[in-house]
Amino acid sequence: MELGKQEAVGTEEYGDSAPQDHHVCPDCVADGFLKTLLSQNLVSRTCNYCGRHADTPIAAPVSVLLDSLAGALGYSFCDPLSGGVPCNEGDFVLRPLSTEEALDEIGFSCSDHLREDVLEAFGDRGWVPAHEEGWLSSSPSRSWGHAWQRFVHTVKHEVRFFFSTLVVDQDQPEGFVPAELLATIGRLACELGLVRELPVGSRLFRVRNREDGDNWKLCAEELGVPPSEKVRARRMNPSGIGYLYLAHERETALAEVLGRPPCQAGLGCFEVAFPLRVLDLGRLPEVPSVFDVDHRLEREVILFLEEFVAEVCRPVARDRQEHVDYVPSQVVSEYFAKVFRTPKGEGVDGIAYPSTVRKGGMNVVLFPPPGGRGGFERLVSFVKAENVDFADWRSLFQAIGVVS
Ligand SMILES: [Zn+2]
Repeated sequence: MELGKQEAVGTEEYGDSAPQDHHVCPDCVADGFLKTLLSQNLVSRTCNYCGRHADTPIAAPVSVLLDSLAGALGYSFCDPLSGGVPCNEGDFVLRPLSTEEALDEIGFSCSDHLREDVLEAFGDRGWVPAHEEGWLSSSPSRSWGHAWQRFVHTVKHEVRFFFSTLVVDQDQPEGFVPAELLATIGRLACELGLVRELPVGSRLFRVRNREDGDNWKLCAEELGVPPSEKVRARRMNPSGIGYLYLAHERETALAEVLGRPPCQAGLGCFEVAFPLRVLDLGRLPEVPSVFDVDHRLEREVILFLEEFVAEVCRPVARDRQEHVDYVPSQVVSEYFAKVFRTPKGEGVDGIAYPSTVRKGGMNVVLFPPPGGRGGFERLVSFVKAENVDFADWRSLFQAIGVVS
């Protein structure tokens, strides 16, 4: 992927007390990247930490590990003095973390014996959270996270429709404009390969609740998007603009819509009729290790997108109220429906996102195609439908795959 190169920054040195003649094996650390790093530098047949011994080299110099730890600590923290943390009556205004706390913060985990040597090597010093510019500066993922929070507040409580006219807030060091944040999310999504194709023939499912006395027919029209005047606001669409909500699995479609039993519904099966491009928020790549210098920016991007997806997919109350909480995800959806283009100039037909009510389940929402409500038929064709009826929790749980 091409996320741009980033210089290794702020490598902190560790002291002479480091156990220079010791060797450590990959089994003595928990992080996968560090295991690989150590296994690429095997020189000793004995690990000084777990005592393992073999006929071939199984352990690397402990300095290999300490160098990597120094790089990761230097990336996330700085020394309070050199980072410019102000003092008040002899104390720093921000309490520095101990080395042990800083190692916990970056998620370093190892055996107790090794930990003692690591702590001794770095000595008794303080660490304050920092990024490149010294204390108070934040990592890209934190900056984007703050920008997203401001975006959410802006579209919920300040400006709904013309936020693209807002200019940079000079008080905000990251300088994000709400409209620019959407472009940033789109660019990051492209760089991570999140725009994918839903192949023709893929099956998708949709459920419509049937209340007592409802006798609508099991057909494409009744199980599709309702007429515009009846469209209520949902997670991705404002009221009056119909998006087609589907699920990849029958079980997810049922779990997303059905509430307390006894309940009944119509369950429709549709098939992708045209190669659809979707923004796939359900399959973010694994977050690279904090120790992986070459993939730091990629790590920041994925951490931000993970938070963003959790926020967009957060469960909301199943009532008939117009929720202001929906507005940010509605704005993001409309951006992807109407403005977003891949570097090849292609748009997307919808967004795939993880279900919050069924673990592992995936939803997909399709944006209104040209031609309005009828246009959806060119994207997905109706295959079949059935009535489903659940008298009690057990039968409902069986249907959504919670119990066998
Ligand atoms: Zn070992």
